[in-house]
Amino acid sequence: MKLKLLSLIALIGATLLSPGRADQPNFVVIFCDDLGYGDLRAFGNPTIKTPHLDRMAEEGQKWTQFYSADPICTPSRAGLLTGRYPIRNGMTSPKRGVLFPDSSLGLPAVEVTIAEVLKQRDYATAAVGKWHLGHLPQYLPTAQGFDSYYGIPYSNDMARIKGAPNYRQQTDDPDYYADTNDFDVPLMENDRVIEQPANQNTITRRYTERAVEFIEAHQKQPFFLYLAHSLPHIPLFVSTDFRGQSRRGLYGDVIEEIDWSVGQVLETLRRLDLAKNTVVVFTSDNGPWLSFKTHGGSAGPLRAGKGTTFEGGQRVPTVFWGPGFVKPGVVDGMGSTIDLLETFAHLAHADAPTDRKMDGYDLTPALIGKGPSPREEFFYWTMGKLHAARSGPWKLHFLQREAVQYSRLVPMDHPELYHLEKDISEAYEVSTTHPQIVKDLTAKAEAHLEDTADSLPEQLSARIPNFKYRR
Ligand code: MG
Repeated sequence: MKLKLLSLIALIGATLLSPGRADQPNFVVIFCDDLGYGDLRAFGNPTIKTPHLDRMAEEGQKWTQFYSADPICTPSRAGLLTGRYPIRNGMTSPKRGVLFPDSSLGLPAVEVTIAEVLKQRDYATAAVGKWHLGHLPQYLPTAQGFDSYYGIPYSNDMARIKGAPNYRQQTDDPDYYADTNDFDVPLMENDRVIEQPANQNTITRRYTERAVEFIEAHQKQPFFLYLAHSLPHIPLFVSTDFRGQSRRGLYGDVIEEIDWSVGQVLETLRRLDLAKNTVVVFTSDNGPWLSFKTHGGSAGPLRAGKGTTFEGGQRVPTVFWGPGFVKPGVVDGMGSTIDLLETFAHLAHADAPTDRKMDGYDLTPALIGKGPSPREEFFYWTMGKLHAARSGPWKLHFLQREAVQYSRLVPMDHPELYHLEKDISEAYEVSTTHPQIVKDLTAKAEAHLEDTADSLPEQLSARIPNFKYRR
């Protein structure tokens, strides 16, 4: 009894004395752009050196079946920040896959972001890097729960200056290095443009400096840092310290600079004695952009890449790190960026929205090593259509995009079934030998479509036209 009382007093004392409180951990999301499943040493890459990410994976938790919310930029970000499939908030559409500099829309104000959820508990919040959920003032991070914003509002290849070389045509040369002044992309501070064109050669370094400054400035209160690198999306840019260093070439240089950045963030947390009270997630918004040849990344053993709903498009290399919370190891259960909102809300004792349909799961049991991941299904959406559904190891495709030039839909004469544990590369189609699995997954997909039917004005059938193939 006495011992119990003493340990209780010690626990209360440690909680009061330690910087930050255990019931309000800090959160850092490091979100890469177009980084493939096979681009990190911890996920099997043999040529790119990532010592900081290697260490992060060793000390933390590597998730081998973690999905981005969508295989392209805008909807992927909407899903991560809102904990909902992007079909629910209008951020995926059959007409335009992502937002462009001439878009007049963005993530609706009624959507609740992770930053807004954590504001209930007085978190300091910052977005650093690429936003891509609307560049007009009413859609910027500062309108969605973030105290501050520093970064580029859309992709780094948008607003190419007329007459500048076409990057796509240059990518036969693995060493081609673009002129940053060819892309009239603004760098913003809150809602002001502070540099245009943004000097992208130094952008990873400058995002990192901002991230470190934010952590230092808010070390005495709970904080949420969303650090969304605008690379390795093409055009590839890198600081002079890293250029020409990687055996993998320019793409490797870019990843090695991002790895350095990860090291800076984790080192800052250790130096300020915040490591034990912080959870850091490293992941990617979608798979590699394969049509850019060596300027794009690798999906490793997975089929296809960005823009497709094959595994290479959405299964992303993911590491959770947090010595005070995260049990080191490998998690082979499913997870998604869609789950971060529920997970952070749980850990921070904040409330996730209850007035709307949410799609995330609280991953805490798996993070702390007390149970498996609660996620047992995943629905693959892109361009406003449901392409595939997964339940356990089984995945059924209703629609497919071409593996490299993903703008083209591939005609399918029947849904295709794959067993993702026995066939990680989606190479062997087995629908004819497993009719019951096809039936069950079709039913799950139909139920999901009904559940999301109120999200779009179109009729259900218009959203998944080849559903006539269902058996
Ligand atoms: Mg992307």
